[in-house]
Amino acid sequence: GLKKKEVNILVVGLNNSGKSTIINHFKNEEEKLPEIVPTVGFNVEKFKNRNVGFTAFDMSGQGRYRDLWEHYYKDCQGVVFVIDSSDRLRLVVVREELDLLLQHPDISGRRFPVLFFANKMDVRDALSSVKIAAGLGLERILDKPWHICASNALTGEGLQEGVEWLTQQVR
Ligand code: GDP
Repeated sequence: GLKKKEVNILVVGLNNSGKSTIINHFKNEEEKLPEIVPTVGFNVEKFKNRNVGFTAFDMSGQGRYRDLWEHYYKDCQGVVFVIDSSDRLRLVVVREELDLLLQHPDISGRRFPVLFFANKMDVRDALSSVKIAAGLGLERILDKPWHICASNALTGEGLQEGVEWLTQQVR
């Protein structure tokens, strides 16, 4: 009938990149946590906003939980990849995780939009979204629509622009 299409979006990134803060920004008032606890180990966060379901988790912990998080890939139609733009040291780790995600059998070969948030743009010395894109080699992604936005999850700056792009893509 006229039932709205259900969409599932993954929210991934290293620990401390700002996933919980971004997710909280999009939750309804009553669902908001009073405080965001830094995620430790394998922590899955789920919430729904209208017909869009979000599932978030950390890509860290030496891949100990890789099998657990990878099983979410096939049920998702797009991904939000959150990067701490001020964490230059771990940008190579981010790139490795991105490559593993894109090469995963449940994602490679699919039309799978990827939204990057170059988060923490407010931090002094944070890399620009252009530098992040270059550092991650995003120009190599030819078979998937992707978009990068600089964001400040504390104020919400940049978040709406990104989510609007992703909504258009998964519609
Ligand atoms: P997660 O581990 O990826 O879920 O990261 P969190 O959302 O828990 O954020 C980790 C820390 O970074 C917290 O102290 C947040 O307040 C802080 N944080 C998140 N986004 C931003 C941002 O855009 N700018 C700044 N300055 N801090 C942020």
